[in-house]
Amino acid sequence: MEFEPAELKESILSLIRLQEIDALLFQLREKEREPAPDFLAAEKKLNEAQRDLKLAEKSEREIERERRSLELRHITLQEDVKKAEVKRREVRNTKEDFSAGRELENFQKKLIEVKKMLEEKTLATEERSKLTAEKKAAVEECQKLFQEHQDQRQKELAESSNETARLMKEREGYISKVNESIFSMYERVQKLRRGSGVAIVRDSICHGCFVEIPPQTRGNLKKLNQLITCSSCSRILFPESELPEALETERLLRGVGS
Ligand SMILES: [Zn+2]
Repeated sequence: MEFEPAELKESILSLIRLQEIDALLFQLREKEREPAPDFLAAEKKLNEAQRDLKLAEKSEREIERERRSLELRHITLQEDVKKAEVKRREVRNTKEDFSAGRELENFQKKLIEVKKMLEEKTLATEERSKLTAEKKAAVEECQKLFQEHQDQRQKELAESSNETARLMKEREGYISKVNESIFSMYERVQKLRRGSGVAIVRDSICHGCFVEIPPQTRGNLKKLNQLITCSSCSRILFPESELPEALETERLLRGVGS
């Protein structure tokens, strides 16, 4: 496809401006997609704290269940002791007295054992519930921090969305100056290349991908009458010598947005 050199030049120079905007738009989209590392770190910390709390609560429930079952055994044994005492008072002979005495002693011994176990378990339960309270406080702290990060991210997303709208509007202004078929070629490439669809050629090198341009292509490039793309990265090529003085060439060569 043949072009008027002036039209081609104007189109590509507009694209060079346009790709600065597109690189910014690309960065904004990246930022929107991927939350900042400290946001992710806060989220991870919260998840871990919540998991720790769940484990602590589970273990607290288990130990409380054990304590309650000891408590029941303790009550039962207290009743057994009382019954054994009554039984002993009602004995009719020495043999019965001996046997009732043994039974009572047995229950009393067990009662002492269970009482001790119950006391220990009660202490352990208190320890456990203290631990759960600590874990709960940690979760609340993490939630607070994460909420701050979320608010910050919401704010950033809103700003980003405003900035995107502003850039999209600015973009329209440049698009209107670009030949339609050149623009559609540019669009295809910039979408694949992080918002960069045009590359400057300096010293026979494409500064999009740093591959050397063949002599034949170099010759055609100078004529400015056809759209020439890099055979390696597909970017639209433009010779450095045709850039207006005012353009910050060094920045363009480094890559827009970097
Ligand atoms: Zn290239």
